[in-house]
Amino acid sequence: MPDINLELNELIETTKKYFMQQQDLFGNIIYTADTKKDAGPFTYPEEPWVKTSSLEELQPQINTCLKCSLGQTRTNFVFGVGNPHADVMFIGEAPGADEDAQGEPFVGKAGQLLNKIIEAVGMKRDNVYICNILKCRPPNNRDPLPAEMELCSPYLLKQIETMKPKFIICLGRISAQWLLKTNDSLTTMRSKVHEFCGATLIVTYHPAALLRNPNWKRPAWDDMKMFRKLYDEKKASG
Ligand code: URA
Repeated sequence: MPDINLELNELIETTKKYFMQQQDLFGNIIYTADTKKDAGPFTYPEEPWVKTSSLEELQPQINTCLKCSLGQTRTNFVFGVGNPHADVMFIGEAPGADEDAQGEPFVGKAGQLLNKIIEAVGMKRDNVYICNILKCRPPNNRDPLPAEMELCSPYLLKQIETMKPKFIICLGRISAQWLLKTNDSLTTMRSKVHEFCGATLIVTYHPAALLRNPNWKRPAWDDMKMFRKLYDEKKASG
């Protein structure tokens, strides 16, 4: 006969460990060796949208999502914008007030700076793809919660799998740590070229952080020059 109390204790301990691993006292997510081990291959939930084969088909199947509480407070589901066949995908954190109101990512002040950054490397907003880890706005622009990212990121993964971008540029620490499943600092992540789902992944500052601290614009420009160099090399090698 299985000992119910023992099994229950084990379950409680595992649950406690799981939740304790998730966030530190400041709300930062803690990625452990186990998180990394569990990170791949990604599995999708058993839902109809998983079978879609284009972004056009995907969007209407997910934009009524109510899996987390952000679905109750959003004005618009912010799917993503740009060329669905782009080689380059920019990934931010989550929609803010302007994005929630307009249903489009990066349309506020940070978005205007992102447009300038894109243009500075000789590209256009319409020719790249821009999206976020979360599709709905967290109240008061708080950081996304791990549970929200867990529920929402399959949509982003489907976007990546569908588009197969050659380059992914993570805007800020949160999206980069989440995709790479690491606690590394932004500085450490910026110093490396990563690989994610067949794409070259580069990490740079979030445009909102650049607005708050213009001293970071110079190193952000270095990141973008490195991206452009890698992009040109990839193009040249076919
Ligand atoms: N910040 C983000 O991370 N994403 C947006 O869409 C807007 C601001």
